[in-house]
Amino acid sequence: MGFDEAAFTTRCEAWFVAHCEPLDPERHDPPGLIPYTTVDHDAPLRAARAHQRGLWAAGLAGLCMPREFGGQGLPPAADAAFNRVAAGYAVPSMIPLSVGLSLAAPTIAEFGSDAMRTEHIPRIFAADDVWCQLFSEPDAGSDLASLRAAADRVAGGYVVTGQKVWTSFAQHSAYGLLLARTTRSEAKHRGLSLFAVPMHLPGMRIRPLKEMTGGTHFNEVFFDDVFVPEECLLGAEGEGWTVAMFTLGNERNLTMQRTRPKWKRLAELARRSGVAADPVVRARLTDIAMREEMQRWNAMRSPAVPASMGKLMGAQLEQLASTTAADLLGAAAMAHEVGDTATEAAVHWFLGARANSIAGGTDEVQRNILAERVLGLPRMG
Ligand SMILES: Cc1cc2nc3c(=O)[nH]c(=O)nc-3n(C[C@H](O)[C@H](O)[C@H](O)COP(=O)(O)OP(=O)(O)OC[C@H]3O[C@@H](n4cnc5c(N)ncnc54)[C@H](O)[C@@H]3O)c2cc1C
Repeated sequence: MGFDEAAFTTRCEAWFVAHCEPLDPERHDPPGLIPYTTVDHDAPLRAARAHQRGLWAAGLAGLCMPREFGGQGLPPAADAAFNRVAAGYAVPSMIPLSVGLSLAAPTIAEFGSDAMRTEHIPRIFAADDVWCQLFSEPDAGSDLASLRAAADRVAGGYVVTGQKVWTSFAQHSAYGLLLARTTRSEAKHRGLSLFAVPMHLPGMRIRPLKEMTGGTHFNEVFFDDVFVPEECLLGAEGEGWTVAMFTLGNERNLTMQRTRPKWKRLAELARRSGVAADPVVRARLTDIAMREEMQRWNAMRSPAVPASMGKLMGAQLEQLASTTAADLLGAAAMAHEVGDTATEAAVHWFLGARANSIAGGTDEVQRNILAERVLGLPRMG
């Protein structure tokens, strides 16, 4: 039977009406990179989990994932319809679950064994398991292929030794996508393999890192002779680079889809601060509104728009908008009353937005990709 988009949209509307407040851009704070309060650091994860569990129970999670893998088996039009409806409601940020939902689930669906698909994908959509991405190392970020964590073959699996860093949500995760070197003699990109590893194996140690926002969302992860069973291999041994590039492509698309318009909230802040008639403020707000509209259109044209373009534009937009929020707050951005959660959220947004230019590939790397692969310009040096 064909997909009935109108009926599906009505079903989504009914769920959101029953479970979420309608979005009021003049009242709801911008979601920022990762929502944060000084009081309860785990609140964002709990909120994301509760929301996702509700969607799963209503059959509204994993919409376009095949049914045999635990999804709903619907066409891409269902995703678009769902997103159109969701955009009208104040939903929690899903960033704490995004590695599982948007990176691990599609990667496992594409490259995983049948056993891995049935074991992991439904648990990801049901928000039972949080996932993290164990790619970056102290000496391997932009140049990821130079990573050194080693997974040496032994009977029944691999022994992993090395260190990962900047691993978002590792402290909450049940599983991680681990990129490690299985063959040292091969050229950099070859000889890598991807694993879906449980996060509490003997020999693993997770150490949270304190950020300038005051939060601790990412971590160092140490592997000290950790035995990883061979069933954890995701894709073929030595094919890790191809699999990891698929994962990273999903991460850059995610950034583009994540942008939510904030200009109305900023205009309200300008009114409250008594500067809504200031020509410089008005020009800034207009610039933000235009860029947000372009991002929205580009997200609708995805995948025709290169993911690197959306990633780069999204990072710049977040920084412009959050800097505007801090400017409008003036001195309060530096010193505000304890418990002034609206100001606290805006300041956290301002500080956290710097990370958009680094996480998921830096601005400079996105520019290189666009120059070389989209514009066809010669490679640098
Ligand atoms: C908030 C946040 C969350 C993150 N979460 C995760 C995670 O969950 N899992 C994970 O694995 N990693 C994560 N990362 C790490 C992230 O992927 C890396 O920080 C990023 O790839 C950059 O690597 P690096 O920090 O080693 O910087 P480097 O690669 O050392 O870069 C340093 C500077 O040199 C520039 N540069 C490097 N190479 C070039 C080049 N070829 N041309 C021009 N300029 C260049 C960069 O743009 C940058 O300005 C996260 C980072 C942040 C900020």
